[in-house]
Amino acid sequence: MVVFVISEEGKPLMPTRRFGKVRRLLKKGLARVVCRRPFTIQLLYKTTHYTQPVKVGFDTGTTMGFAIVVDNGLGGKVVEKGEIRLRRDISKLLLQRREYRRFRRYRKTPYRKPRFLNRRRPEGWLPPSVRARFEHTVRWIERLTKFLPDPEVIVEIARFDTQKLQNPDVEGEEYQKGNLCGYANVLEYLLARENGKCQLCGKGYGGNGNGWQIHHIIPRSKGGTDRPDNLALLHRKCHEKIHRNPKLMAKLKKPKLYKEPAYLNSFRLQLIKELKALLKDRVKFTYGYLTKIHRNKIGLPKTHANDAVAMTGFTNPKDINTTTIIRQVRKKKRSLHEATPRKGRTNPNTEAKRNSKNTKQVRTKDGKLWCLWDKVKIDGQVGFISGFTSGSYAYIQDINGNYIRLAGKSYKQVPLKQTILIRRNNNWVERVMVA
Ligand SMILES: [Zn+2]
Ligand SMILES: [Zn+2]
Repeated sequence: MVVFVISEEGKPLMPTRRFGKVRRLLKKGLARVVCRRPFTIQLLYKTTHYTQPVKVGFDTGTTMGFAIVVDNGLGGKVVEKGEIRLRRDISKLLLQRREYRRFRRYRKTPYRKPRFLNRRRPEGWLPPSVRARFEHTVRWIERLTKFLPDPEVIVEIARFDTQKLQNPDVEGEEYQKGNLCGYANVLEYLLARENGKCQLCGKGYGGNGNGWQIHHIIPRSKGGTDRPDNLALLHRKCHEKIHRNPKLMAKLKKPKLYKEPAYLNSFRLQLIKELKALLKDRVKFTYGYLTKIHRNKIGLPKTHANDAVAMTGFTNPKDINTTTIIRQVRKKKRSLHEATPRKGRTNPNTEAKRNSKNTKQVRTKDGKLWCLWDKVKIDGQVGFISGFTSGSYAYIQDINGNYIRLAGKSYKQVPLKQTILIRRNNNWVERVMVA
């Protein structure tokens, strides 16, 4: 990850990838660390305040993409890009907790006054999972832009532009000219409406012939409009078929009106409001279909990080060969409730004793302390401690959540004796991947 730099007076300077220089400055006492994530140093000597315009692209979603691109006058230069992966297991865990609680009350409180009819959702309520996403999005944008010199921030908030759909102009002038803007917007909308399935054969992309075709149910020659309710999503081959055999046209199901969940719209509106409050007029919003067109134009493969690069709109970005992956992890394992409270127990579990595997840290006999999600090196591989066994063994995962095993071994337990500590982590782990 790039190192952010602030001046002696506390003003943001250009971020740097000259990690050797940063190390030397810190060693010589010419700089100090002001923040660890993102890693930020403050220079302790006078410098010029020379800066270049910086743009930050940010793709929202459960996997968020980000990119910091500097305007070098030559079509842009990527200084950092990567993705942030949020936890996906939380709603499952909440459901499980709910079940345990329900069952416990059923066991222990045979009669309890009903108290579930008095709840009301406050205004701006979001489901917990969406609310978490909203807060993480704002927090990460803040983190990534705080130490940049007046960055322009571009945030992708949706795949398509609902307002433009009122007047889509699918086969209009723009489409003829080869500017696929309006077409791409409508296509993204139809893909969302039809769940990515062809309306004739019901198969997904590549199911029957290549590519998609948008078909007018009432043809334009007979006064059919470009409004989405007159449009059908078909494979190119299925579309040919339908025109060869007009009987098939009757088979096309009338498209249902696409209505996205109300909370998603609320999520978007709240995000726009919050980011405008945070970044004032330095924030702009864009749509997935525009990103896709531009990413294809500059020839970047599809990843969340590259989407963020494309969002910044530079025409010839000088890329870096690394992607920083930041993953949210579970820091605590509280087994507050047991699914089967009495099974196999000889003594009542009065002290709510934890399973030794659920501990968050372990001290080995040599006096070393190991914590959950410590970044460690073992056998030449870098990973993160994801759990402990009762002995001095641990489970180690790579950034993608795959277990690291010792060469030639089939089991996942790895002796802490052989591991080397690199750094401790809170509930975010980070790894720079070389493409
Ligand atoms: Zn088809
Ligand atoms: Zn057609």
